[in-house]
Amino acid sequence: MPAEMGWGRPYHFPRAIIHVDGDSFFAACEVAKNPALKGKPVVTGKERGIISAATYEAKALGVTRGTSIAEARRICPELIVIDSDYETYGLYSRRMYAIMRRYTPIVEEYGIDECFGELTGLKRKLKMSYEEIAQAIQADLTRELNITFGVGLAPNKVLAKVGSKYRKPNGFTSIPLTERERYLADTAIGAIWGIGPNTARFLNTHGVRTALDFAKKSNAWVKETVTAPIYEIWRELNGEMVMELVTEAKESYQSIQRTRTFRPATHDPEFLMAQLSKNLEGACAKARRFELSARRVSFFLKSQSSFRYRVCDLTLERPTNVPSDILSVMETHLASLIRQGETYRATGVTLAELTERAERQPDLFSDPAKLAGKARVYEKVDELAQKYGKNTVYLASSMRAIAEDRADEEHHHEYGTSASFAENAPQRFSGAHMKKLFSMPYLGEVG
Ligand SMILES: [Mg+2]
Repeated sequence: MPAEMGWGRPYHFPRAIIHVDGDSFFAACEVAKNPALKGKPVVTGKERGIISAATYEAKALGVTRGTSIAEARRICPELIVIDSDYETYGLYSRRMYAIMRRYTPIVEEYGIDECFGELTGLKRKLKMSYEEIAQAIQADLTRELNITFGVGLAPNKVLAKVGSKYRKPNGFTSIPLTERERYLADTAIGAIWGIGPNTARFLNTHGVRTALDFAKKSNAWVKETVTAPIYEIWRELNGEMVMELVTEAKESYQSIQRTRTFRPATHDPEFLMAQLSKNLEGACAKARRFELSARRVSFFLKSQSSFRYRVCDLTLERPTNVPSDILSVMETHLASLIRQGETYRATGVTLAELTERAERQPDLFSDPAKLAGKARVYEKVDELAQKYGKNTVYLASSMRAIAEDRADEEHHHEYGTSASFAENAPQRFSGAHMKKLFSMPYLGEVG
């Protein structure tokens, strides 16, 4: 990388990106909310029977995320088990973004407990080094939220992620361009952001164990052997900045939403799933029309009585615009959105973090024939829809919603829009909307 070859003063940060990540975030929010819990083994996720976050005290006793509550109580009888309170977590999340925005306007709200900030060019303005700015942000976060964060500072997003994970908890790791190799030598390839288990296994078979092994592979080899997104990761490991921050404005512009209101309100999971499936098909059809794929999907239920949204936010393994890729994950998480005693009168699906790359063979181990076949099927679906109208061909999972449509002339509007989730409303659940939300992140991302 040319920047590194400069003689004289090393060029540490051609760009300066900070990544902050809350330590055991949900559990930490509970302790911040109720200081009597400080120093105790606390876990969240009681309502689902599976631990979604554990304090370090709980982890020290052998309790980890993903363990069943029953099992965890056996391991640790004194464990304090709490219902998830996504409203509170969402609130802490917004305060974290706001603290970051005091320093820089370029913020990517990547997840409920993590965000990126671009600090490039702020040294002069703030009269501080990049390390000092990053540490000031970390100090503000800890002091004001009473939660500790892992913080990474680096010339790009992938390396900043390496930094925020490097020391835990309450770590700060600065990775200047010239020093990146020693951090990469310490990091397993599978721990790199965006490298899934299949890709890691594949790279292992080529002798790649650490992130440094991968970074050292030749450009030609990497280009030929891995998919485009993995190639981008390789470039960032080598110090280039390839992935710009996805800021809120950009993201809200680049998202597609389909919603529907129905009557009477219901809590029938099958009916709700059918509505969501139809929302999803509509949103995906639009994405395909614009040749976009989504990295992230969220879906919500709007409750009849409390005017609350129950939201589930999912980060996808790879970008897609094919409903069947998303349906099963949605189905898995739907049960956790439905609350006992509550009925729902609207559903909606948002595709976000849209990318223009056509990734039909995005994962090394996905069967290319199968993927291409799926893409072809959806091309046909779109063709038929154009010729004969929407819903000529549809997923079995949407059938009930479509049948409902045809039976119920009173609600024949294409996609019902509720007052605050109209198609043109801010898509990222920002500002005033957030208060009404329970954000539920994909479990793979929070910890
Ligand atoms: Mg975290």
